[in-house]
Amino acid sequence: MILQGKKLCKYYGTGESQVKAIHDVDFAVAKGEFISIVGQSGAGKSTLMHIIGGLDAPTSGEVIINGTSIYTMPMSPLAVFRRRQIGFVFQAFNLVPSLNVWENIILPIGLDGKKAEVSYIEDILNTLGIYEKRTSLPTVLSGGQQQRVAIARALAARPAIVLADEPTGNLDSRSSNNVLDLLRLSVEKYNQTLIVVTHNDEVAKLADRTVRVVDGSIAAEVEQ
Ligand code: ADP
Ligand code: ADP
Repeated sequence: MILQGKKLCKYYGTGESQVKAIHDVDFAVAKGEFISIVGQSGAGKSTLMHIIGGLDAPTSGEVIINGTSIYTMPMSPLAVFRRRQIGFVFQAFNLVPSLNVWENIILPIGLDGKKAEVSYIEDILNTLGIYEKRTSLPTVLSGGQQQRVAIARALAARPAIVLADEPTGNLDSRSSNNVLDLLRLSVEKYNQTLIVVTHNDEVAKLADRTVRVVDGSIAAEVEQ
């Protein structure tokens, strides 16, 4: 298993106003799997993604990635581990407007004090169909193209796991399908594990497995 969650709880606040955003969640994800996470607004999907991604410690429970219980690590080794093992794609693309496409993509690798693998990144750009845009500024690109740049950036450090939270939320349906297909193609090609939170049934159907979150618990797993 590349990723395991054990008895994960996340509670906000105390006493009567306490919110149990996630309660006693267990799951296991195999290397190379593509999982979609669905559920109503407020169900706990984003909380779960942040905990899985090492961004926010659970109130209790464990996240194990590649055999490491990540929240036992001190903050700064955890940050390094996160940059190397996990790629994030968010609804907002968060590209730096003053840097061109290539510079945006290699930025996180530079922050990690590493050198970009040029031929691997060129291959990603070709797979995503944005190689010709590598010297363009993000502001001249369409929404779909900007999200493909954000995907390339998430894949650039060869993460074991790619986490995408509503990655197509800002795109129309044609662009959404296109971006999702490319995301799936990329993670398959590089044998990465993909977890996507989505409201979109079409997107959820592309996954090997769909996990439904209801009121902070995993309610059902639908084999597809
Ligand atoms: P989803 O992503 O499925 O919409 P969230 O994980 O964002 O759900 O939220 C789950 C629950 O936790 C909601 O009731 C939400 O209001 C609450 N919640 C999320 N983040 C916080 C926070 N920082 N402080 C207090 N409550 C929060
Ligand atoms: P994609 O990422 O799928 O290539 P884009 O983000 O480039 O899509 O385009 C955004 C949306 O704008 C597309 O889904 C498409 O519906 C619309 N669009 C793009 N080019 C044209 C065009 N020449 N005429 C009409 N609509 C277009």
